[in-house]
Amino acid sequence: MVGRGDVSVDAWLAHGGGAPDPVTGAVVPSIPMATTFARGGDYALTSEEHGYVRDDDDAVRRVEAVVARLEGAAATRAFASGMAAITAVARSVPPGGTLLLQSSIYWGATAALRRLMDHHGVNLVEVDCTDLDVASAAIAEHGPDLVLVEAISNPMLGVVDVPALADAVHDVGGVLAVDATVPTPLSLRPLELGADLSIHSATKSLNGHSDVLAGLVSTFDADSEVWRFITAERKQVGAVLSPFSAWLLLRGLRTLPLRHDRSCRSAQKLAEHLDAHPNVVEVLYPGLDDHPGHALAWKHCTRGYGSLLSVRVAGGADAAIRVATALELCVTATSLGGVETLVEHRHTVEEGVTDVPEDLLRVSVGIEPAGDLIADWDRALATLD
Ligand code: PLP
Repeated sequence: MVGRGDVSVDAWLAHGGGAPDPVTGAVVPSIPMATTFARGGDYALTSEEHGYVRDDDDAVRRVEAVVARLEGAAATRAFASGMAAITAVARSVPPGGTLLLQSSIYWGATAALRRLMDHHGVNLVEVDCTDLDVASAAIAEHGPDLVLVEAISNPMLGVVDVPALADAVHDVGGVLAVDATVPTPLSLRPLELGADLSIHSATKSLNGHSDVLAGLVSTFDADSEVWRFITAERKQVGAVLSPFSAWLLLRGLRTLPLRHDRSCRSAQKLAEHLDAHPNVVEVLYPGLDDHPGHALAWKHCTRGYGSLLSVRVAGGADAAIRVATALELCVTATSLGGVETLVEHRHTVEEGVTDVPEDLLRVSVGIEPAGDLIADWDRALATLD
């Protein structure tokens, strides 16, 4: 915390990453809404760091500084959405180059990158990166400029081996970008595991209240070519975070550790309960001992396995939708990482972009006590008896 010695990340976040305003004593920062900044008589900017809002907003800078510390990064750039962040990274691949993309990840990213890469003449290769042998062979074969994976995938909860992928990507001179939205940087920090870029949809757990759209990209190496590209892209294309969204995101980050720990605990308990339920075929959650990515997640997640799980309901698509609509406490809505538990039948929304099973319900566990969630699910699953 600024001016208060070395404190834990939790304490530092609770204070919004800084001390009270030295002039007014305000305990929370104000929201700077100016889009432009005056020059003086010598035609120099009044403040060298303030010219035009697209790159010079103090609320955005503050949230970037907080996330950079959380990530252990040299620099962080905030974007108007997670998708704006992902596509800025993807556009760093030149026409004729290759982007290797993990298959069965967030369908919106898959759909956007298929369209965008085709438009820009980039070769897109989609590979199951949870299988390290398959991924390493594809990386060696295609020599991609960029590899983009999700540390824990949405909604299949596949876990990738970030350090091993980083070695494979660096052997061919490529860049590894890891979307760690699901585990959050409190638990898994891609840069520390060898990735070149860490990406988050801050719309999810980092903000945590289902009321901000935001994205983040962080790096260890602020002098790298890819970072210079991303920085220019953010400023020139202009998919920047608004000051109010930055302010709200900072407020959300203050309670991230509390929300994260509670959601992870409830997710673990709900996953274990549903895994033993006769009307459930399978629960996908890396915190379960028999999950194929459990050992990797145990090694790389320093603070819980996240708040996302998926449940495959016995009886197929109709049964899954019946259960979703019978839930009373859990809200049937898209998105994840909020304080309220959300449930979604992914096959209905993914428009055939991925091969998500028809019996799958994705569950984003909020901060409700596990007992309330278990009671809601037991009641809903009983409608199948
Ligand atoms: N990354 C992951 C893992 C996501 O789940 C999402 C959205 O659901 C995104 C990125 C895109 O983020 P946003 O909705 O903030 O654009």
